[in-house]
Amino acid sequence: MTQISSDVVWHQGSVSYLERQQLNQHKPVLLWYTGLSGSGKSTIANAVDRLLFERHVHSYVLDGDNVRHGLNGDLGFSDLDRIENIRRISEVAKLMLDAGLVVSTAFISPFISDREQARQLVGPEYFVEVFVDTPLSVCEQRDPKGLYQKARAGEIKNFTGIDSAYQPPENPGIHLKTAQQDVTQCAQQVIDTLLKLRIFN
Ligand code: ADP
Repeated sequence: MTQISSDVVWHQGSVSYLERQQLNQHKPVLLWYTGLSGSGKSTIANAVDRLLFERHVHSYVLDGDNVRHGLNGDLGFSDLDRIENIRRISEVAKLMLDAGLVVSTAFISPFISDREQARQLVGPEYFVEVFVDTPLSVCEQRDPKGLYQKARAGEIKNFTGIDSAYQPPENPGIHLKTAQQDVTQCAQQVIDTLLKLRIFN
């Protein structure tokens, strides 16, 4: 990361946090989905996004694969690149929270320390960790992008769950067990938690 010049100062906006909240009629929050590849992060985040849209909640999904096409197109999958990947995403999510949105991020984000860094960066009060808890065997059976097959064949290195570690959340804000609940039930569980947290009514 390049350090910014000490001459660059933060410019205060003319619209306050509360004014945005009043206009939107909901609070901003970051739903940080984490789980193995194929666990269901994107699928559930998008199902939740649809439900939020129908409730007139302004929301946006930052999807792992999409971000790697553009913003993070220069990054690979080494430990260092994964850390930088998460750092940039956290910064983008922070800007979106400042804009008043309900933001969802769908990234494997395998390391506890990186997720903790994201939590601290955006502020713990805006951060809800969503653990998409799917056994490796189920993810491998689903293999929606054929990646496990390639990783097992040695064609992809550093693949989470195969030859790279996944550290599950110790105390997630939302715990989804996709082998026992379908997509609709998982999405509803997220919405119910947001209602309990009074993000919207
Ligand atoms: P990820 O974003 O975690 O890599 P995806 O959402 O791309 O995972 O893929 C998950 C796959 O699992 C999809 O094909 C989805 O239809 C399937 N699936 C089956 N049951 C569930 C469930 N309960 N929740 C989420 N996805 C599920």
